[in-house]
Amino acid sequence: MAKTVVVGGGIGGCAAALALHRAGADVIIYEAAPELKELGAGINVQAVAVKMDRCGWNFTVDDNVINDCLPTFLNLEIRVLTDLGIPLEKFHAPSEGDAIFTSAVEYFTAEGFFISSEKVGLAAGASQPQLSAHRAKFHSTLLAECLRVLGQEKVILNSRFTQLESFEDHVILHFEKTTTKDPMPPVRCDFAVGADGLKSRVCRALLGDGAPRYTGRMIYRGLCEVEAIHADGCTVSLCGHENGNFICYPISEGMREKGQFLCNWGLCVLRTHPGGEEKWTSEATLEEIREELEEFGGNRFAGLTPLQLAERTEKIIGWSLFDRDPLESFDFGSVTLLGDAAHPLLPYGSQGATQAIMDAEALGVSYQNAMAKGTGIRGCVKEYSDLRCEVTGKVVIANRDMGSTAVLRVAAVETQGMAVDEKRTWCAEHGKRLHDEVIQKYRASMPKSVRAVAER
Ligand SMILES: Cc1cc2nc3c(=O)[nH]c(=O)nc-3n(C[C@H](O)[C@H](O)[C@H](O)COP(=O)(O)OP(=O)(O)OC[C@H]3O[C@@H](n4cnc5c(N)ncnc54)[C@H](O)[C@@H]3O)c2cc1C
Repeated sequence: MAKTVVVGGGIGGCAAALALHRAGADVIIYEAAPELKELGAGINVQAVAVKMDRCGWNFTVDDNVINDCLPTFLNLEIRVLTDLGIPLEKFHAPSEGDAIFTSAVEYFTAEGFFISSEKVGLAAGASQPQLSAHRAKFHSTLLAECLRVLGQEKVILNSRFTQLESFEDHVILHFEKTTTKDPMPPVRCDFAVGADGLKSRVCRALLGDGAPRYTGRMIYRGLCEVEAIHADGCTVSLCGHENGNFICYPISEGMREKGQFLCNWGLCVLRTHPGGEEKWTSEATLEEIREELEEFGGNRFAGLTPLQLAERTEKIIGWSLFDRDPLESFDFGSVTLLGDAAHPLLPYGSQGATQAIMDAEALGVSYQNAMAKGTGIRGCVKEYSDLRCEVTGKVVIANRDMGSTAVLRVAAVETQGMAVDEKRTWCAEHGKRLHDEVIQKYRASMPKSVRAVAER
């Protein structure tokens, strides 16, 4: 049983720890945060990460029948998140993860003209839902499962990774107490996974520089409560254009059931580099974004304009957006990278948590295969890198081009200079084409679950 250290207990780190544990590794998580606080706002996790969408086949019989049969007759595992042993209900129940089963993503111009809508998750025929969740609740559900299956003593907080030494058959990791900066005793392991996020020190230790690049964009995020639902209460809505776009979606199933809307919203805009260290929690004022929000006043979500939603928001947080050129490999011998540490992404197309979870799935599959084949940790890391490095690099590039949200840019560019009525008519006439050429093209290019490939 390989002693495996996962550095970072975020969504990717927790999913990786669970996948490796299920594959037979002896896993321990070291997390820098001294305590786990409610940080962040909403995230969307796509159906492919919740459970693999049956390789594109259309099954109509009961899920349990399929799940019981497939692994035996096709030697295929077909779940991702739910395969980590967490029942979907834990993510969905209002008293637990409280996630909404997302039904659609709709796109509007800055003026509020409907361009297109794509069905997602169950509504699109997937076997599992796409989830719209509060990041903290989603993360807590994963973390609780880590604490349950690994044991409290295997999730070590207040431990910031500082450096590593890599040898032929083992790795030595160095940590310090986050609160005091006191060095901790070195940790020897067979396998180390850097899941320490955007500003990954593991990545820096492996690559020297490796610093993420500022993309010239910021996203302002907030949460507010509305006494009505928008559309079916399960829809993600976007409006705007390339230089400014607004997203909002519901993230509380409990509130949806009461006909209310816990609205997670985000405004992505151009900004020069803010300077200094990027912080997840830099508070912003409404005045910083009022003008940009006003531009979208023709849009209404649950009866409110983007500005009115922001006015109801207690705390607005501004995030500088970074990404990094795709890496050539995730294979560093007995060390590898996962999630934002491996491929920080611009926040388009709901890919951040989704791809981190799919990395975790691939790591578990690779570990299991390598142990069966006797190729050891190095075999596992090589297979994982082959499965995930190139495909996630393509997501980085596709997201630099706005992912599916590029439909807003294309509509804005193609209607430039048109009168208002002309624009409305143009959107009605061209929405279907843009849906196929931009949204569906992007979706089709996104990575699929690795299991079928890995086990072929
Ligand atoms: C506080 C926070 C809030 C976020 N809020 C949102 C949001 O509202 N919406 C959204 O779409 N995405 C959000 N994200 C990003 C999103 O969660 C990630 O893109 C995605 O889930 C991929 O997860 P990850 O595990 O790779 O990285 P992360 O979620 O960034 O997790 C990395 C983990 O590693 C830990 N860590 C960092 N450095 C070290 C170190 N040196 N040693 C040990 N541990 C370390 C961090 O404390 C963190 O727990 C947030 C991320 C963070 C950290």
